[in-house]
Amino acid sequence: MPEIHSQKITRSAALLEKLYGEPQPWIADTPLDCLIAVILSQNTSDKNSFPAFAKLKRQFPTWEQVIVADEKKIVDAIRSGGLANVKAERIKNVLREIKEKTGKLDLSFLKNLPIEEAKLFLLSLNGVGPKSAAVVLSFAFGMAAFPVDTHVYRVTHRLGLQNEKIPEKAQEKLEVIVPDALKQSYHLNLIKLGREICVARKPKCAECPLKKECKYYKEVFLKN
Ligand code: SF4
Repeated sequence: MPEIHSQKITRSAALLEKLYGEPQPWIADTPLDCLIAVILSQNTSDKNSFPAFAKLKRQFPTWEQVIVADEKKIVDAIRSGGLANVKAERIKNVLREIKEKTGKLDLSFLKNLPIEEAKLFLLSLNGVGPKSAAVVLSFAFGMAAFPVDTHVYRVTHRLGLQNEKIPEKAQEKLEVIVPDALKQSYHLNLIKLGREICVARKPKCAECPLKKECKYYKEVFLKN
């Protein structure tokens, strides 16, 4: 890892913990619950996807029931999460695939695999991309994955930690350079910073605790 990145990550992670504290990740009841919640969160906010997940679980207490349910009923249950038609089909298909591949609706076995093998299994499921896989590995199993969503991508790009054109490539790079012990806290606090301060349009650099570490601040903000 280039020394400059290592120091920047360590310092900025500490500054974020000073600002926001050590974040508490959402823990699902089971790894499969986590995966379904992650699918529901694709292309929408937690504010929309959490109620959709809660309603889905209320109406279908077991994933077996979802597999055999009328898809329209699943669509109705998850409507508040957005893209309900696409996600209902995706959820049913993922559940079917898991059952076909493993014989049951349970992802607990992944905890006994090396992270690369667990990741490959998740990526083999239709509708599960690198970010979703990384969220499950990190949140359900505490593995050293580093999911890069739109906020993490934007903030790390502005900080100068990565210069990739797409989040998937940035994730590959950041997974290597962010120390394992910092991954979960740094990921969650970067999202918070991206929502509140390092917003997409007009980042609030003047009030940002990371300004001394930030490439954008030095090269763009101070020059305007
Ligand atoms: S200084 Fe500005 S650009 Fe840099 S991380 Fe903070 S808000 Fe974002």
